Amino acid sequence: MNEFQEQLVELQKQYADRKDAESIQALYEFKDLLEEQSSVQAKRVLVDVCKTLKLYQTAYEVLRPLIIKTDKKGIRQLGNLQALAKEQGDYFALRPIGGKAKRHREKLLAQLPKFKYHPDPLDTGAFEEVDPPQVCECCGKATSVRYTVPFYAVADVKCLCPMCIANGTAAEKFDGEFQDESSTDPVNDEEKRDELLHRTPGYCGWQQEYWRAHCDDYCAYLGGVGYQELVQMGIVDEVLDDPVWTEGWDDPMDILQHAFNGGSLQGYLFHCLHCGKYLLWLDCD
Ligand SMILES: [Zn+2]
Ligand SMILES: [Zn+2]
Repeated sequence: MNEFQEQLVELQKQYADRKDAESIQALYEFKDLLEEQSSVQAKRVLVDVCKTLKLYQTAYEVLRPLIIKTDKKGIRQLGNLQALAKEQGDYFALRPIGGKAKRHREKLLAQLPKFKYHPDPLDTGAFEEVDPPQVCECCGKATSVRYTVPFYAVADVKCLCPMCIANGTAAEKFDGEFQDESSTDPVNDEEKRDELLHRTPGYCGWQQEYWRAHCDDYCAYLGGVGYQELVQMGIVDEVLDDPVWTEGWDDPMDILQHAFNGGSLQGYLFHCLHCGKYLLWLDCD
């Protein structure tokens, strides 16, 4: 074993044991280091690192120029990788959540108003940080965090601050809604409905955003997911156990397996605030 192979074994073991952000980050750092090397040995190890990270398209592209026509084993290996790349690309890749970026986001989130039905709007992308700060069109104050996803109002409002959403002034001033009234599961409580439609940041789907409910209350929106994320969270069976699948879906499991985060079949994950059940909404581009 060369030193790169030894390091790979070490990092793969670390990832297998911990499966956490740091062990994924370590694999990405190793990948960066290998990309700077010109030796075939290093490139071979780079292929394995990419495979571990499920970056199949990248792995295929690294391996292809290394295989010569007479290398039967290599050609077979390349063929297998090509099939994986065609099927999965880099879409299901493990992604690190940068330690520094995450800490910054958590600090920023602590300064924002709390949204019961949308607990981390920075993570889901409903809010973005802007530098320099922009002026909120509702309160007229400068804000460094801006709303980015649909606001259904007649006026074309470009900048809203989190506070004007949380206290309902934005919805009132522009007579708007953050979620389409008819696109939610039913909940029998006017106050809850008012909070969701007028005081909760929405989200952005491919087609019509839909808000799930459970235990007669709206669920918390957790963000975009694909099959891979559901597997990692161990909730595939849980989201399939849902009456939403009984209508119009032939084979829910088969459909679910084709969902990936950021892909043309996109999942949106919701979490019941009362019983803790996870619910899914799917749409395609
Ligand atoms: Zn404002
Ligand atoms: Zn529930």
